[in-house]
Amino acid sequence: GRTIPVGIDLGTTNCVLAYVDAEGQSHLIRDSFDKATIPSAVSMTPDGLLCGREALAQLNLAPENVARDFKRDMGSAHASCTLAGRSLPPEVLQAYLLRYLRSQIEQAIGIDYHAVITVPAYFDEVRRQKTLRAAEMAELPTISILNEPTAAALAFGKRLGMLHSSGAPCKQRNVLVYDLGGGTFDVTVVRLSPDECVTLATDGDMCLGGNDWDLRLQEYALEQLFRERPELAPWDENQDHRLRAAVVRAKHSLSSTTDTTLTWRQRDRMYSLSVSRETFEKVTRDLMERTMFTTRSVLRDAGVGWTDIVSLVLVGGATRLPVVSRKLLNLSGLQPERSVSPDEAVGRGAAI
Ligand code: ADP
Ligand code: MG
Repeated sequence: GRTIPVGIDLGTTNCVLAYVDAEGQSHLIRDSFDKATIPSAVSMTPDGLLCGREALAQLNLAPENVARDFKRDMGSAHASCTLAGRSLPPEVLQAYLLRYLRSQIEQAIGIDYHAVITVPAYFDEVRRQKTLRAAEMAELPTISILNEPTAAALAFGKRLGMLHSSGAPCKQRNVLVYDLGGGTFDVTVVRLSPDECVTLATDGDMCLGGNDWDLRLQEYALEQLFRERPELAPWDENQDHRLRAAVVRAKHSLSSTTDTTLTWRQRDRMYSLSVSRETFEKVTRDLMERTMFTTRSVLRDAGVGWTDIVSLVLVGGATRLPVVSRKLLNLSGLQPERSVSPDEAVGRGAAI
């Protein structure tokens, strides 16, 4: 048989698995719940360890037994994550998650495969080594680590006919990758060429992502609520997750409609507030501006101009915010490329 190339997008919020078939086409691997996006969550329960979607479900029952966002702490000297009262190094949690991903891969395509795991372009050598170490602990047949933006550029390159069937780029081209995920933002200029793919420049913000858009909408909702009903303040922190879930739903619907109603239950009452996309964009304008500032500065650092970029590609779930495409088009004059789903590009590209 043929050893199947597998790509693992090991995200802060979500993971995506993909493989390439004998014809060179990439396919996503679905988890036991038939979903291609696997939450980066680990949970310790009295019945044992749970990962992915099952771990996330524990948030409602015992949030203290659920660990998320541990990728952020990978490689920092004294970082440890607390899970069910135990303190664990982040790479151990990463290893638990990778072991789960391995089981999902093996259920789907068997055991004859090699995996490439992606990491952010800004990961230093220590964090790359820790990621490889976690893959080793998980007994994953890993052959290498690849930068997320390079993977994304390859997935788009493939879709746009810029690669040979072997996966190698046909000629030299620069691609700008704008990646806005759940908790992190980065932008990178990648140069694809027949014999190597190099990062010309990269920068970002490890504390900026879709979560910050959620928080802003939540603040706005509470402000409006207290204006009408001051007796409701201060807010009961323990009930916040209901509002947060409602906020995320409203945010997602504002990516496809211009007006929505934010509805949530609080102290046995239902509350609702209408929010327009315009208002949402207004209360989050400075967050968007920060990403534009970084985009301009990375282009400058790469020593290229917009005319040297053949494609501006969108990666990360939060690039579904319509304001992202609009602002980038304004800034660059390029129509942002969305021919590969922003959730799938990194995983598919890693496999390619
Ligand atoms: P990561 O790379 O950090 O693992 P993802 O690329 O999966 O993260 O992005 C997750 C973020 O994308 C979350 O903040 C989520 O709310 C956001 N997101 C997903 N779908 C939409 C949508 N339709 N509109 C706006 N934001 C979205
Ligand atoms: Mg990501």
